[in-house]
Amino acid sequence: MTPEKLISIDRDHLIHPVSSWRDQEQFGPRILHSGHGTWLKDIHGKELLDGFSGLWCVNVGYGCKSVVEAATEQMARLPYATGYFGYASEPAITLAGRLAARAPGNLNRIFFSQGGSDAVDSALRFIRFYQHAKGTPERRHVIGLARGYHGSTYTGAGLTALAAFHRDADVPLSWQHHIPSPYAYRHPGDNNDAAVIAASVAALKAKVAELGPDKVAAFFCEPVQGSGGVIVPPKGWLSAMREACRELGILFVADEVITGFGRTGPLFACERENVVPDMMTVAKGLTSGYAPMGAVFLSEDIYTTIRDNTPPGVAVGHGMTYSAHPVSAAIGLAVLDLYEQGVLANGVKAGAHLASRLNTLADHALVGDVRISGMLAGIELVTDKKAKTKPDASLKIASKLARIGYDKGVLFRAFGDDIIGLAPPLCCSVEEIDILCDRLTAVLDTVA
Ligand code: PLP
Repeated sequence: MTPEKLISIDRDHLIHPVSSWRDQEQFGPRILHSGHGTWLKDIHGKELLDGFSGLWCVNVGYGCKSVVEAATEQMARLPYATGYFGYASEPAITLAGRLAARAPGNLNRIFFSQGGSDAVDSALRFIRFYQHAKGTPERRHVIGLARGYHGSTYTGAGLTALAAFHRDADVPLSWQHHIPSPYAYRHPGDNNDAAVIAASVAALKAKVAELGPDKVAAFFCEPVQGSGGVIVPPKGWLSAMREACRELGILFVADEVITGFGRTGPLFACERENVVPDMMTVAKGLTSGYAPMGAVFLSEDIYTTIRDNTPPGVAVGHGMTYSAHPVSAAIGLAVLDLYEQGVLANGVKAGAHLASRLNTLADHALVGDVRISGMLAGIELVTDKKAKTKPDASLKIASKLARIGYDKGVLFRAFGDDIIGLAPPLCCSVEEIDILCDRLTAVLDTVA
């Protein structure tokens, strides 16, 4: 089909996720055609360096032969097997075992979902089951962060605190609450690490006191907040929040949908501070975007408490047709092999180079803050560095830069009007990081 015909059908029929429907109809799509390693080609043959791993998911890069072969073999042999009624497939079992062996602490029990949103929604349901099983159903409230993102289901959108997800959506739900994010750059008053951490701990304790100490079930957070603008918390923040949850007697849930699978360095970001959450959600890097899959990791205590409260022969009523899909699981295994065979280590090396290059951008006239954690980076744009003045929102400068980036052959993402984000594939070479940063600088120079 010709590009013109595709664009016309797109405008008339395809609803794009998290997009302006009006802009979509006016401007049409940018249609991608193929990819190899860190590089993409669009339908017109234009080469693009993917500085965002698709949507922070293609960690191992495009066109990995071993992943394609694993998927093809599984699809030919057994394309589908339900997990219902006691059935299972070999790759789903093997993947659960390998993930449990790599998971923090005793997060030994794994439920596979179709992506991150339903992993979060599943975690919220498991929390309800757990509180009922413990005889504390009045513990209903769940607290998240003010710039948190937890997906697009009804419950996930409520736990998310980004305006677009609340507009006309009747969320947050009555049991969902938010405390300020550990956002050092715009933290009021003293913004050293200790002050930012102390403020978060105090805010969590105050919120629990306000809702009632025996009315709160859990605190949810991303170890690094992604869609809220790549907010990298100070070192020590994650362990302090984990400790505060233990003290308050509430569950600590780490949403590692972005940070999981090497994005910040180790396999899971919680490992950076030896944090063991009560539950963990993952997706994206689990299959590196080659097929949809997410997962919820449950601690042994949560799993056995729910199990023991359910009479023999009675189902724990949660699951989907495509839970533990065998093709996705086979892909997950092949991707895990690649992480273990060098992609994680390469991500650490490339991440160090990315940091050294991006830190030099701090002097750029348009740059107020550079935030980096491994292969995850956010650049906050200002018009006055000293006063930290945000650019005029009507100029939509971040989106404008992302469009210029496309023209210059580099993909990165805009958050709101004033933040751009990078999340290159972990397989990136140092030379590709240099190309990425050179092109990004050229893009910023068009506006400065
Ligand atoms: N949680 C976090 C932290 C995410 O970043 C995302 C997606 O970006 C989700 C949940 C939702 O995942 P999905 O888009 O796979 O449903």
